[in-house]
Amino acid sequence: MTQVKDITQRVKEHLEALREFTATPGEGVTRLPFTNEARQAIDYLRNAMEEAGLSVRLDATGALIGRLEGTDPDAPAIMIGSHYDTVRSGGAYDGIAGVVAAIETVRAIRESGAKLRHPIDVCAFNDEEGIMYGIGFLSSKAMIGARTVRELKEYKDPDGESLYDAMKRFGLEPEDIGTCALDPEKVRCFLEVHIEQGPVLHAKGIELGLVDVIAGLRRYRITMRGEANHAGSTPMDMRHDAVEAAAKVISLIPGWAREVGGGTVATVGYMRVSPNALNTVAGEVEWTIDCRSSRMENVNAVLIKMMQKLEEVKEETGVEYVFEPLVSIEPGVMEPHLVDLLEEACKEKGYSCRRMLSGASHDAHILCEKVPCAMIFIPSKDGVSHSPLEHSEYFDLAHAIDVSAAMIEKLDRE
Ligand SMILES: [Zn+2]
Repeated sequence: MTQVKDITQRVKEHLEALREFTATPGEGVTRLPFTNEARQAIDYLRNAMEEAGLSVRLDATGALIGRLEGTDPDAPAIMIGSHYDTVRSGGAYDGIAGVVAAIETVRAIRESGAKLRHPIDVCAFNDEEGIMYGIGFLSSKAMIGARTVRELKEYKDPDGESLYDAMKRFGLEPEDIGTCALDPEKVRCFLEVHIEQGPVLHAKGIELGLVDVIAGLRRYRITMRGEANHAGSTPMDMRHDAVEAAAKVISLIPGWAREVGGGTVATVGYMRVSPNALNTVAGEVEWTIDCRSSRMENVNAVLIKMMQKLEEVKEETGVEYVFEPLVSIEPGVMEPHLVDLLEEACKEKGYSCRRMLSGASHDAHILCEKVPCAMIFIPSKDGVSHSPLEHSEYFDLAHAIDVSAAMIEKLDRE
């Protein structure tokens, strides 16, 4: 029987090795898809998976999948994993902690001597973050059959290299993207261990979070056009000031999210003012809204208020607007039975846990469209993520592994 302290030591070794595969040494982990650092991580993980007794393959998206065969050739696979890419100057835990957890979960199961009926697929997904090509969830979207060759050619990095060309350069075959699609009949479930990336578990001193819903999300780009003019000689009643108009709408958005409640969050995190000069009335403002909630009607309620206000402000100021949808993802509901099994395992092992909403999206959010999913969160120190300051404790990850192994064994006995 593997002790939790041995698992803690192993995840420490893995994560300390993996954090070195970064394009920004000393300034957090930058492991973008299809780079040298991505290759180093793949090589390391392949080795670790093989050492854990898995047979490993790389799929067309660059996802590394290691299989442990089960005793029943007809049993559907239990998938477990997360992503190995990072944001720019991100942390050493986001995504990769879940990959390491998956490998060590299988190792713990094997060392317990249990022979599972189901095969287990340990997954290390690629390009979840979408930093370079603006779409993200490359591997998980391909697994649900939602990525086409045409899209791979369309999406380009800031230097103009398409996702398609990047995959080729990396030695992958983008034309085979269709072969990544899962047959849902052959998958029992997907389990993802991830850092919380929020403050709840750390602040409340709870060891593990069990996600029941991943927030649905809509993003829009709003472009408001008025008239650029001289800041001195244009009287206040003769302006069509795009900044004034944008501010009238934007300043109300956080209040609407609070009013709607239910964990709804709304963010205007990007603005571009044109001409962006201190002595010119702004002619145009482009901004985005990112709104999330466990219930899409809450997201829609905020967006409807915003549209009404845009219309009102147009009447008032003469500033026109255009409204473009960027992203729309329905809330992802985790399979209640899997969450129950995780909760049972936490109780038996003596770990404190709570059910929670995930505000951030994850590969499980994509996969739950086709296969039953569950997620375990470990605490993030002060809730910080996507930053070099991101920190989680190795022993918390070991607890998540302990619970994952117990949950998989329960599931296998059903
Ligand atoms: Zn992540």
